[in-house]
Amino acid sequence: MRYQLDKNGRKRVTLIAGDGIGPEVTQATVRIIEAAGVAISWEEHVAGSEVFKQGLPSGVPPETIASIKDTRVALKGPLETPVGFGEKSANVTLRKLFETYANVRPVRELPGVKTPYSGRGIDLIVVRENVEDLYAGIEHMQTPGVAQCLKLMSRKGCERIVRLAFEVAVAEGRKKVHCATKANIMKLTEGLMKRTFEELASEYPNIDAQHIIIDNCAHQLVRTPEQFDVIVTSNMNGDILSDLTSGLVGGLGFAPGANLGDDVAIFEAVHGSAPKYAGKNVINPSAVLLSGTMMLRHLDEFAAAQAIENALMVTLEEGCFTRDVKQDGSVSTTDFSDRVIANLGRRTEQWAIREHRELRLQPLDSARDYVRPKTRRTVGADVFVESAISPEALGESLEKLAEGSVFKLKMISNRGTKVYPTMGGMTDCVDHWRCRFVLRDAESKLTDVALLDLVSRVGASYRWMHIEKLEEFDGQLGFSRAQGED
Ligand code: NAP
Repeated sequence: MRYQLDKNGRKRVTLIAGDGIGPEVTQATVRIIEAAGVAISWEEHVAGSEVFKQGLPSGVPPETIASIKDTRVALKGPLETPVGFGEKSANVTLRKLFETYANVRPVRELPGVKTPYSGRGIDLIVVRENVEDLYAGIEHMQTPGVAQCLKLMSRKGCERIVRLAFEVAVAEGRKKVHCATKANIMKLTEGLMKRTFEELASEYPNIDAQHIIIDNCAHQLVRTPEQFDVIVTSNMNGDILSDLTSGLVGGLGFAPGANLGDDVAIFEAVHGSAPKYAGKNVINPSAVLLSGTMMLRHLDEFAAAQAIENALMVTLEEGCFTRDVKQDGSVSTTDFSDRVIANLGRRTEQWAIREHRELRLQPLDSARDYVRPKTRRTVGADVFVESAISPEALGESLEKLAEGSVFKLKMISNRGTKVYPTMGGMTDCVDHWRCRFVLRDAESKLTDVALLDLVSRVGASYRWMHIEKLEEFDGQLGFSRAQGED
């Protein structure tokens, strides 16, 4: 069951008011949902700023976690990441704790909200992968002056987000899904998403499936956003693109979102806590309200969701706006909410409310080794070292150090560009080198003893900070080549 009932038959939802403008926007949403006659049992819990300040570094206390585990549905205001209290975002913690792997962010041209794109009929959804990619947040200073962030993407993660994007298209009667990646540069990580998309597209023959390079996608979104229907993309790309798309239809005040997983769904606006407006009763509650209508559909309250959307659109058609849309003659957050409530039962003339069907989620095999190759082979190792000497001096010295071992030095790269043997370029090197060693006899078997011998040989002269085995799976290279490497 996607949601739980209390003993009186009411649908249970964990409510997190959030920080900054959070209490104002969530309160407005709760009021409007109640006025629409939906019986919800709200279970209020905290997360974010005040929790960090109490010294809990995750920003999410155990009671809040237990409540979401129980109810399986949460409506959440924005959570601030206060500087100086804990390092991690409570938002990201919540998404990861409950494996809400999909962040669904629809944007649509709204009545009366004037933008440079008015009249073009923008109506699209960004489906952002929500738990992998650079947001794994695994970072290391590899030398005092060189930082690294690991971009982790899995086949399973790609498959479930791509499937969900196709299913969103099916549920909403949409015709097109674009997969936006940087697969041309990151062939293994972003390329995994592209390949998965191309493979799964054949299961959805009625949907036009197209791959697009992410930078061109940004360009196309600014030039002709109306061409897009559903865009599926990785975490970082989706974070940026979805703020861009919200700007196309009037800004963050109108951009809703849903974090969906196989077990839990958390509904929240795209925007943050906008602290400068906190308590001023001036901000736009529409983004959280629209997140609330996404939640109502998840709770099978399709009629109430439609009634609220109609009332909101009628309110906008009447020219009732908060200050983010209209400077002169704008209304307060509470007056805006009152107008929406007064308009419940009215239908919009201009805005076709979409028919929504239930979103089908297909949980994947829970095995951790989701991809099982028939064959695998280790063909070498990249040893990352810190040194201030020249690439030539480093290369010659490492070749000597490897003499008599099963390894030979194949090349050295500096931030991804091959610098030894030299290509004759003008690469400005830093003190961080990736030294690629391969087996002298390509047919021999690489053992850990041989690898440790290599590391101790290198370590005798250089500070090393990282080793990466070079693997082949089913005969396919499991590593990228450096710029300029053959
Ligand atoms: P923000 O809170 O989204 O605010 C940026 C700007 O967007 C505001 O200054 C305001 O623009 C506009 N805006 C946002 N929400 C609005 C609304 N409901 N109505 C009208 N205008 C709205 O982004 P931020 O200032 O970068 O982040 C503030 C805090 O929120 C940070 O601690 C950040 O970590 C956190 N955050 C949380 C979430 C989340 O909980 N999911 C998401 C993003 C950020 P004008 O200044 O032009 O009026």
